[in-house]
Amino acid sequence: MTQDSILPLDIITIEQSDSDSILKTRAEAISFPLTHENRLLITAMRNKLFQLGGVGLAAPQVKQNKQIIAIYISEDAAKLRVHASAYPMHIMINPSYEPVAETVIISDFEGCYSVASKSGKVPRHQAINLTYQDEDGQLYLKTVSGFYARVLQHEIDHLNGILITDRLTPDCVQGSTEAMMALRYRELSAAQKLLFDQLAAKKRATREDATTDSQA
Ligand SMILES: [Zn+2]
Repeated sequence: MTQDSILPLDIITIEQSDSDSILKTRAEAISFPLTHENRLLITAMRNKLFQLGGVGLAAPQVKQNKQIIAIYISEDAAKLRVHASAYPMHIMINPSYEPVAETVIISDFEGCYSVASKSGKVPRHQAINLTYQDEDGQLYLKTVSGFYARVLQHEIDHLNGILITDRLTPDCVQGSTEAMMALRYRELSAAQKLLFDQLAAKKRATREDATTDSQA
């Protein structure tokens, strides 16, 4: 595969019929040392996640059937969540998790770049035992909890072909992306609402810049 076929990365959604198979397929494990192609993909995924202003991105979302995820929880993103800390941009390769014994299930709002029409309060384990490799192949075993554990469960689900639409059982709060955004907004504190508005304005500005660039 050439560099041109990886870059730029486009997000695929479940609403696009041709994207159904890769979003619903278990991704392939990555071997070390990383190939040049996989290094390019990782750089492109970091850039894409920064550009999106999101907290996580999995390779299948950009049509790459590989067990790679990028995570970035900014200070601002953490302030809008419960039990959340900021995390710098980092990559996890071949990640997997098991729930910590007797951990509780917590439901909270999640959206997904690959599910355009629906979001909701997704039930997740509060704490997980996590295994992954870094870009050098070094193996890590960690126990993590709270919002970080939620993001990781969401992204690792992508590597197993599982989407939030599979996790949202009939008893879950769910609806259109717009309706869920409005519901989430109502549950924020006054300070969080102010921050939410600022971030939304910033994302709109970024999108308009991107549109201008692509028309240039
Ligand atoms: Zn997702």
